[in-house]
Order: sequence, then C-alpha cells, then structure tokens
Amino acid sequence: MDATGARIELTDLDAVRVYGLPMRNRFRGITVRQGVLLRGPAGWGEFCPFDDYGDAESVPWLATALEACAGDWPEPVRDSVPVNCTVPVVTPEKAHEIAAGSGCATAKVKVAESGRPPGEDVERVAAVRDALGPGGAVRVDANAAWDVDTAVARIRELDRAAGGLEYVEQPCPSVDELAAVRRRVEVRIAADESIRRAEDPMRVAVAGAADVAVIKVSPLGGVRRALRVAEASGLPCVVSSAVESSVGLAAQLALAGALPELPFACGLGTITLLEGDVVADSLVPSGGRLPVPRRPPEPTPALVAAATPPADVQRRWLDRLRRVHALLPAG
Ligand SMILES: [Mg+2]
Repeated sequence: MDATGARIELTDLDAVRVYGLPMRNRFRGITVRQGVLLRGPAGWGEFCPFDDYGDAESVPWLATALEACAGDWPEPVRDSVPVNCTVPVVTPEKAHEIAAGSGCATAKVKVAESGRPPGEDVERVAAVRDALGPGGAVRVDANAAWDVDTAVARIRELDRAAGGLEYVEQPCPSVDELAAVRRRVEVRIAADESIRRAEDPMRVAVAGAADVAVIKVSPLGGVRRALRVAEASGLPCVVSSAVESSVGLAAQLALAGALPELPFACGLGTITLLEGDVVADSLVPSGGRLPVPRRPPEPTPALVAAATPPADVQRRWLDRLRRVHALLPAG
C-alpha cells in the first residue's frame, strides 16, 4: 500500500506523547483507547492502530499521522458535516436515551455481537427508531458477523423493527458474500471492513457488493489517499472514525469536508465514546454536526498529562512507533 504525504523522520518530531483514554463502553474488545500524539512541522497527528493490526498493516496509520504533522490536507468544500450517533450493544432503554440525547438525526446501531440473542438487536433497533421518530435514519453495523442466510433473515427482521433501515454495514466477511446478500434484500449494503483491509478497495464496487462505501482515513494512509479511494470507488461514501481522540478525528473530518458529495451522515461523532479527550475544545457534535477543521487541533498539556498511561504501556507504543516508522517507504 502506498503511503502518502511527506516522510518525516522521528527525530524531526518535536513532541511524541502516548495517551490512553477509557472507553465508556467496550468496543472491539477494548476498554481503553490508546495511541501516540506526534507534533511535526505543521501541527499534530495521531498514530493509533488497534492492537490487532500488525506493523505492516499499521504503516498507513502512521502515514495519516505524518500527513497531519506536515499540514498537507486538501481544501474542504464544506464547513461542517452531519454525523450519526453510535449506539453500542446496550439495553433498549439505554439505546433510546443515547439516540434521543444525541441531537443527531441518524443513529448507527451495533448488532450481531457474538453470544447475544438476536431478539436484543431487534428491541434495540426499535427503541432507536422510537427515539429518532419517523424522520430519523437508522443504520446497523454487523461487523462481518453473519453468513449469507443469517444476514438475509436478520436484515429483514431489523428492517421491519426499524420501520426501514438506511443501510446495513458489513453484514458478512467477504466481498462475494456481501454481493450475495445484496441480491436478496432491499436494504442498502455498506462495505466497511471490506474497504478498510482490502488489497484493492475498488473490487467492492466492481463486484456489485455494496451501495455505500465506509471510508476511514487512518487505514487508507491519509486524507489525500482516502479521497482518491473514495472517488475511484464510484460509490457514495460515509466517512467513519476509528474512535480517535480529537486530534485523529480532525483528519477524518478533513476528508468528510473535502469529498465532492456527502449524501449520508458521517460516523464521526465518536469522541463521546471516550471518557475525556486530549484537546480542551473537543470535537463533540452540536446539533448533530461537527465543524471541518483546517488544521489538527492542539492538544492541551494538562489533558495529555492526565491521559498518560503507565511507563510499560508508553514503552510498548514507542517501540511500535519505531518499528512501523522503519517500514515507511523511503520518501
Ligand atoms: Mg463498521
């Protein structure tokens, strides 16, 4: 995968800060979101691949951080973007409260968590519809949990419970399965993991596997490269975060601000999934929207200090940073 942006040596960074922020709810099996904040010549970037990403797979995440450090984002075409709220695997009562209190007209509901009865998903989705009213949009994310037949059955059930789903995100693991599900249901299919971890994101569109592409800047190697992937996919795109702090979130917003078309709410209202932030002027949605920043926000020293994890965690991240940096293509 090509990495974009200026290559910045680690010795050219004038600050490197490891952070850990507790998650309000368990997400991808983690309870604390960790990463490294890097200050380069033009500002701050965030390097925060999840723990299950190997070094080679983390190279685009570092390219994204260094692109921000180099101040190399494309010009935005809008000043703010609509965002969805995210409803984790919680009780219907809690789901209702999250959706109603979010100020967002769109909610993404997590479904298909292993070991949980499908009836819980139905109740959670119905509660979210009730909270948003008929004018809201309800989408679900199955994180590749289903086989084709299960997906078809569950999607029909959830579509009924929602009074119409906006789309279902990554119902099955493979591109071929997505295409098979898409032929059998009326609900739009969005590809997330298939785009993020694919050797060739274009294959998703070519295979007729999706109606919507979920694009995340970090795994694609920066705002500029993600913009090219989005445009080449020929699909409407939803920009979605990797649950970064506001520093990393700013790069995602730079992409959402630069996309020529933005027909759906973005999955960028995720700062509220974290307990706290490293930035005082946190990117918390207001009225269901977030501003498109021109530059990454400046971390607040006291907040960074408060979020600094124990020494062994810091060492692990700094080692990881060095190993991944060594894998960057020569600039
Ligand atoms: Mg997803």
